[in-house]
Amino acid sequence: PYVIGSECIDTTDMSCVEECPVDCIYEGDRKLYINPKECIDCGACEPVCPVEAISQDRRVSEENEPHIADNRRFFVEP
Ligand code: SF4
Repeated sequence: PYVIGSECIDTTDMSCVEECPVDCIYEGDRKLYINPKECIDCGACEPVCPVEAISQDRRVSEENEPHIADNRRFFVEP
């Protein structure tokens, strides 16, 4: 799945939400989150992000690696 990194914090531009064909991008307090169980890996969200916060989990920068687990946690905890 794709993952949204720190660049999104306090940005939450929402362009990706409009692009996602399966509506799997959700709004949190300070950033957006991609539900890894719903993401179909289409890549449509990545180029539209104005702060380049989105990448595939396999290609995520070292700095944004914690967001893979963070994204997962967002959808299991209430
Ligand atoms: Fe949605 Fe596709 Fe982005 Fe996954 S890769 S979050 S399915 S737009």
